[in-house]
Amino acid sequence: MTTITPERPSTSPIAVQGDAATSAISEWPDVDQLYRRLAALVAQPMRPIRADAMATVMRWFDERCATSKRLAEQAKAVIPGGVQHNLAFNHPFSLAMAQAEGAWLTDVDGNRYIDFLQAGGPTLLGSNHPEVRRHVHAVIDECGPVTGLLHEYEIKLAELVCQHMPGVEMLRLLGSGTEAVMGAVRLARAHTGGKWIIKIGGAYHGWSDQLVYGMRLPKTGRLEAIGIPRGATGHTQECLPNDLEELRRKLRWNRLRGGTAAVLLEPLGPESGTRPVTRDYNAQVRALCDEFGALLIFDEVVTGFRLGMGGAQGYFGVTPDITVLGKCLTGGYPMAGAIGGRRDIMMSLAGGIGTTARRAFVGGTLSANPLSCVAGYHALVEAKRSNAAVVAGRAGDRLRAGLDEIIRRRGLPYVAYNMGSIVHLQTSGVLLLDTSSLWKLLKLKEEAKRRKHMMEEMGAAYAAHGLITLAGSRLYTSAADSDEVVDDALNRFDDVFALV
Ligand code: PMP
Repeated sequence: MTTITPERPSTSPIAVQGDAATSAISEWPDVDQLYRRLAALVAQPMRPIRADAMATVMRWFDERCATSKRLAEQAKAVIPGGVQHNLAFNHPFSLAMAQAEGAWLTDVDGNRYIDFLQAGGPTLLGSNHPEVRRHVHAVIDECGPVTGLLHEYEIKLAELVCQHMPGVEMLRLLGSGTEAVMGAVRLARAHTGGKWIIKIGGAYHGWSDQLVYGMRLPKTGRLEAIGIPRGATGHTQECLPNDLEELRRKLRWNRLRGGTAAVLLEPLGPESGTRPVTRDYNAQVRALCDEFGALLIFDEVVTGFRLGMGGAQGYFGVTPDITVLGKCLTGGYPMAGAIGGRRDIMMSLAGGIGTTARRAFVGGTLSANPLSCVAGYHALVEAKRSNAAVVAGRAGDRLRAGLDEIIRRRGLPYVAYNMGSIVHLQTSGVLLLDTSSLWKLLKLKEEAKRRKHMMEEMGAAYAAHGLITLAGSRLYTSAADSDEVVDDALNRFDDVFALV
């Protein structure tokens, strides 16, 4: 079983715990009050866009997005569902983009949008940052995107991450967040000999067999595990967010039947804080893991570098044993995934043919290619130099404060809150429905469908007003979001909320 090393202080200048002036998160939300407001939102009838106004929104798509519409039809013939990833799904059809720069996107019909999707989170500096692009071009010109052999940028990127992430002493690069989570789970089992993985219900950790479990909505277990045999999720468990007693019970029970390899969590709470955890939750989980000899894995695919160079672990002052990284790690360039952790644990991932070490097998032909590494290194150097996480965090604060003001002035039940540059805007509350038992889940099926449709309509109305969001309910700000951009966006949100 594992031994626990003392916490290493973060070396990041912007990873000071909760320091309002220098932290990407200026204030942790009042979680109790937030849950009360979210409960009130789902307890009352929906407040969607009026039908006549929605008809106008749909007309906008028909009249102004003819090329996107044609491409979306074409895509449907050769791409299942017409999109390769949920992020690209848009009601009534996906919009095809032609240009991305900083805070702005331009689609193939020439419509301009303020971009709060930011590729799903990776582009903390804003899209297509020129300085990063310049360095990427130089490497591509010299050796192309991949050679299969060591490149100096691999070392530079790993050194930079190890220097700033409190829990990372070594780094293994992989192809995506999903792959990195898979590898981290295997690593935890290899290191501890434990069988069980406990995740927090509702969290997304990619689409590997063992983690399509309790996805999006807590306590939904195998609801989405289509095509996944029972055995694959047979050692995955889920606990309700913020429920430490349930976690303790599972850890205690697992002791008798093979041990817990790791507790795996998103440090802000499931789905990037859609169900936020209390300020001290991560520290409490750390203590429980220590008590029961389980490893603590932070999935920092979203929070890594977006909350500062030290990630969420720097912000909370809690050091995980294993850290999963993705997204911002390569500045929006492919391929973004890595496992980091304590040296003694990471050595179970030792590479090399003929090694006699007992090791967990991970790898990939294109992982750690020069393209990803040069992009990641320079994106992170630039993020550190320009204090991008804090700049983007302040943009998130401004956006949330403005949304709060509009919501209050218009007497709407919507809930806006943010953790730095991760802004949540719940208008239908579909992700907050109480699914904690099968009976509740069945009862809420129709309600969930209606609320999901409302969320999609809100997303469409935002787009028709020049705002791209993540599924109509999450907004990532970037360092390119100046006060002018945010204020422009707020005027557009005000126009949308006038249609309710
Ligand atoms: N973990 C978290 C917390 C994520 O948000 C995501 C992707 N949104 C993943 C893992 C999976 O990463 P990828 O899409 O790169 O496989």
